Amino acid sequence: MRPARATIDLDALRHNYRHARTLGGGKALAVVKADAYGHGAVACARALDGEADGFGVACIEEAIELREAGIRAPILLLEGFFDADELPLIERHALWTVVASSWQVDVLERHPLRQPLPVWLKLDSGMHRLGLAPEDYPDAWRRLRALPWVGDMVAMSHFSRADELGHASTPAQLATFDAMLARLPPGTTTSLANSAALMAWPTARRDWVRPGLMLYGSHMLDAPCAEAEPLRAVMELASRVIAVRELAAGEPIGYAGAFTTSRPTRVGVVAAGYADGYPQYATSGTPVIIDGQPGELIGRVSMDMLTVDLTDHPGAGIGSDIELWGARLPVAEVAARSGNSPYRLLTGLKRAPRQVVERS
Ligand SMILES: *Cc1c(COP(=O)(O)O)cnc(C)c1O
Repeated sequence: MRPARATIDLDALRHNYRHARTLGGGKALAVVKADAYGHGAVACARALDGEADGFGVACIEEAIELREAGIRAPILLLEGFFDADELPLIERHALWTVVASSWQVDVLERHPLRQPLPVWLKLDSGMHRLGLAPEDYPDAWRRLRALPWVGDMVAMSHFSRADELGHASTPAQLATFDAMLARLPPGTTTSLANSAALMAWPTARRDWVRPGLMLYGSHMLDAPCAEAEPLRAVMELASRVIAVRELAAGEPIGYAGAFTTSRPTRVGVVAAGYADGYPQYATSGTPVIIDGQPGELIGRVSMDMLTVDLTDHPGAGIGSDIELWGARLPVAEVAARSGNSPYRLLTGLKRAPRQVVERS
């Protein structure tokens, strides 16, 4: 069998969730959109079921997949509904919804529901993507609050640059949010922080936090942060060496001769490529782990294969284990070598089968 595989460590996922929840100090919505960032939404939600206060998904299709797998915890639609047609399904599956545009308020006013629907009303505090503008927000809040079929309401917003530790944008968004909050009833439930804000901006930790990337053990914080230290990688992408070539100095390797040997070189051919989700434009020198030791990618990544430098790994050869990212090699570090983000690499996992491991 082809040796490329992604191993998913559900103990690490639970560990990261507990860290996020403790840090937040209140409730924590485990964000499992996009198939749990490539880790498998059903397996991840099951691993956290009974423990997570709720789950966040991007759309009703993702929510229904979890309900059909037996997940009973609250599930929040992070972008809300896309169409009024979804309301009966939202009701049937007892979902929660974000409301992020005034057209969604209009739709809810026109469609009475049998049970009260929990609504998270989103403020655009400066990201300028989804959310109501500050001048429209209090009115939307009052209109929704007046509907008997709207249940508990949460005031929420989302940060655009929380991973930039010294940047003024996050404090500015916090100030905008808090000015809005002063116009809502006292004691209103709130939610602001994604992973980066939860770890790096203590004043953003409110009633609910919404960790995503950190649950999977990664982050993009641009400066050291003690709260990121305990995170454990959940996914390991690995394969094996399937061929070895001994080349003289001055020989090109692979497509386009993107790398030319500068010394006599032992090249290991690894069964993993961009069709597995490894970044096609990772540059020569991108770190890999060869039988547990630090090594380097050389040459251009192909669809099904990539090449590594075995010259300084005399014990390595056919069958050697190559970790492409995981516990010993942060996916964010690999991502940075190709202008990518860990979000992109994790959600881009393809073909390589996922193997779930769980000790507890
Ligand atoms: C995706 C998402 C999150 C999680 O973000 P991370 O950066 O992965 O922690 C939180 N809130 C909302 C609204 C999201 O869409």
